[in-house]
Amino acid sequence: MQISTYLKIYPCPDQPGMNLVYSTIRSSVVLLPDHLLEAARNGTLPDEDRETLLQLGVLTPDRTGEREQMRTIFDIPRANTPFSAVVVLNLDCNLACPYCYEDSFRGKQYMSAETAALLVETIRRDRISQGQPVRLTFYGGEPLLSLDLIRAISRPLRESAIQQGGSFSFSLVTNGTLFNRACAEELVALGLSGAKITIDGPAELHNQSRPYVSGRGSYDTIVRNIIDTYDIVPLQLGGNFTRDNYRDFPRMLDDLLARGIMPSRVSTVLFAPVVPKSGERVVADFNTGCSCSYEPWLMEAGVYLREEALKRGFPAPKAKLSVCMVELENELVINYDGSFYKCPAFMAYPELRIGSLVEGIGDYRESHNLDLWKSDGCLECAYLPLCFGGCRQMTLLHNGTIDDVDCRRDYYDTVLEKVIRQDLTYQGTKQKS
Ligand code: SF4
Ligand code: SF4
Repeated sequence: MQISTYLKIYPCPDQPGMNLVYSTIRSSVVLLPDHLLEAARNGTLPDEDRETLLQLGVLTPDRTGEREQMRTIFDIPRANTPFSAVVVLNLDCNLACPYCYEDSFRGKQYMSAETAALLVETIRRDRISQGQPVRLTFYGGEPLLSLDLIRAISRPLRESAIQQGGSFSFSLVTNGTLFNRACAEELVALGLSGAKITIDGPAELHNQSRPYVSGRGSYDTIVRNIIDTYDIVPLQLGGNFTRDNYRDFPRMLDDLLARGIMPSRVSTVLFAPVVPKSGERVVADFNTGCSCSYEPWLMEAGVYLREEALKRGFPAPKAKLSVCMVELENELVINYDGSFYKCPAFMAYPELRIGSLVEGIGDYRESHNLDLWKSDGCLECAYLPLCFGGCRQMTLLHNGTIDDVDCRRDYYDTVLEKVIRQDLTYQGTKQKS
């Protein structure tokens, strides 16, 4: 039995002789006294402790085998994992956010009824009939401007999945302005399992940052919709902050509390920075694996906002095993015109198109330079299970091509211990004495 490679050990200054031990594979945390940690290192643990630490990922039967397990972790037979697609229904929006990264290719483009029908037929034939669970994320623009398309796609797929004894669900990434209770109730019946809604801080900031096309603020409508829907749909609340305004964001959480929202019934709260893109600005908020925070102020802001959310009883995502969807065979972006990409941000790069509903999925191993993280440096890095080479879009922005990992070592060195300690304070952990 050996100590795992994928472990971070932090001495506890306020508890001399104790160590916070975190497994990046299992996301488990255990407090270990020096003598047990030493015994784990030199293989002299009593049987019972050895078994417990094996379960927690602190020990591994064999480091070479563990490394090989990590290297092949995503080599799973296709039918054994759900098919997960981001479906871009339109590139239109009823808001006019100045930072919107889709601005450069925004227009009145909508998915046609024919493309939606082809999408349904393709997913039925290639996924549902093969017994694969299907999860879609409707995305835009603003997906609720295409409510008819959501119905036209989700209804037949849900029916097919039920007939085959399979499963179908979908979620929304929405600005929240059109997501009222009637809409939520209708969509829940069609398979809606969650929605991500963006609020960019308290009313005065949000209304500047996310005005309607007319210039009117959208804050009150969105907050009313959150209050009207969060008891029937798990909501992930997000928001995009800047260096100048992130310290004001907790006032928005206070406003939600003052309006009677029960924080524990919100699915998660996660704020992400508005980050620059080649002189423009891009929002890195697609999912937790996608936010990229390297500058010192960004790291501080992320930890600060997480603390402020937890302090008020809102759940925050924990550090956990996560990988860019580019690496996952069963994850895809389907654009409004039926073309395929591996990340929503790649829709701005025609050379990264990997196929379409008509052509099928092409070979993208070379264009996307897969497996960059399967190097000795990454396989021996304790952060590998949280990182797997970081965000390909960030490499693309920096280098103009996906030719290297987006190394997050400095970020995790600065942030991870603080995040784990926040969870100890607000969300509990196991203690070993
Ligand atoms: S490239 Fe970056 S933004 Fe795109 S899916 Fe991967 S981690 Fe997310
Ligand atoms: S990219 Fe950097 S942080 Fe990520 S696994 Fe590789 S060495 Fe570790």
